[in-house]
Amino acid sequence: MTQRPQKSTAQAGHDPILSQPDVLILGAGPAGLLCALTAARRGRRVALADASEITARKLRASGGGRCNCTNLNAAPAHYLSANPRFTAQALKRFSPRHFLALLASLGLSAHEEDFGRMFCDQGATPLTDALETACRRAGARFLLNHRVESVTPVEGGFRVGTDRGPLMAPRVVLALGSPAWPALGGTDTGARLAGSLGLAHLPSRPALTPFTCTGAMLALCRELSGIGLNATVSCLGRACTDGLLFTHQGLSGPAALQISSHWRKGQALSIDLAPDADLRQLLRDPARGRTLARTLLAGLLPRRLAEALLAALPPDIAASANRKCAELSKAQMQALAEVVHAWRVTPSGTAGMLRAEAASGGLDTAQFSPKTFECRALAGLFAIGEALDVAGELGGYNLQWAWASGFAAGQAV
Ligand SMILES: Cc1cc2nc3c(=O)[nH]c(=O)nc-3n(C[C@H](O)[C@H](O)[C@H](O)COP(=O)(O)OP(=O)(O)OC[C@H]3O[C@@H](n4cnc5c(N)ncnc54)[C@H](O)[C@@H]3O)c2cc1C
Repeated sequence: MTQRPQKSTAQAGHDPILSQPDVLILGAGPAGLLCALTAARRGRRVALADASEITARKLRASGGGRCNCTNLNAAPAHYLSANPRFTAQALKRFSPRHFLALLASLGLSAHEEDFGRMFCDQGATPLTDALETACRRAGARFLLNHRVESVTPVEGGFRVGTDRGPLMAPRVVLALGSPAWPALGGTDTGARLAGSLGLAHLPSRPALTPFTCTGAMLALCRELSGIGLNATVSCLGRACTDGLLFTHQGLSGPAALQISSHWRKGQALSIDLAPDADLRQLLRDPARGRTLARTLLAGLLPRRLAEALLAALPPDIAASANRKCAELSKAQMQALAEVVHAWRVTPSGTAGMLRAEAASGGLDTAQFSPKTFECRALAGLFAIGEALDVAGELGGYNLQWAWASGFAAGQAV
């Protein structure tokens, strides 16, 4: 597409980059920023439009402000998508190591915590500011407070309707994210634009969101609110061993968030509250024969949790918990072990999009090149980041996807 379309009117003034950009990026989140930086450093005239008055609000809030900025294990297996291999090329071309090198070039650093999770030493806001500054230095222009309402193919490119007037560009990148966490700018604009452009969009579902509970389980969670422990949460053949947190609404923490992406309403969770121990073996151990079963159980769990679980036991199992280990039958040992290692909890729901760190679903990836991220049917239209049907696991995978897809499109626009 060589012909330049007519000039943009919104906020363009006399700035040639704003009035006639080569590339207009819709959304100044992490994917949009990395795309802008890459394209501007290649000499492209880049403008970014964003509804918010500041850039990348989710990035600024990421990791509770500590920014889990990438994961050393990033690979397709850590992403949910109808097209499981779609992420492979981009993750290879711009790997976590490439992102860490970029961080270093911006004067920032990161350290590894558990499971390959890398956190920015300086925190989320300095990282976001550094990226934004690098984009500006490379010549990119920001159109903040510009809500995108429509994208229409026109001769020579696209006309983008915003609440501040139309913008025009020969190439447009959809980097509008997902509806997750609307208080931080999540919108369903991607789905609405897909409809008007005739593109397939898979329904968005909240991912990485806390579980909510009702009734006796809610009362228990409230009583234990603030208690965290390492646990394995399983559901529908998926299991995650990580932190589990009791909250005033139900269950949260990395293990719960991770499994929420796969959970379906009505499904029970099976929770191993002591994945590093084997209560069955401990109960059978002759050296512990004179120990009360409840004492053993209490030794494995945070005190308040053990007390609450014991208080909630059915009378027959509660009675066996008050006996010495050597006096227990195999069936009693099994019943007690299940309380600790296969605790069944059926959440009433999740906190939904309101508190989802990501959303699964999005623009069907089959319509986009996994190398350039250009739309096969609409030349000059690109889509990156969470706007696509790609949702990462917890632990830096979502940001790595934003970087990798943003870089790939930035090389191509
Ligand atoms: C609280 C929280 C914590 C998180 N922590 C982590 C973490 O530590 N590590 C990790 O890997 N991931 C984390 N994530 C997920 C990660 O932030 C997202 O996956 C990532 O930001 C997606 O990047 P994106 O650029 O595709 O979209 P977004 O970051 O959502 O950016 C999209 C941009 O588009 C703009 N926009 C939306 N609609 C419009 C419109 N109509 N017009 C104009 N602009 C619009 C938005 O204002 C936004 O700036 C977290 C998410 C949340 C909510």
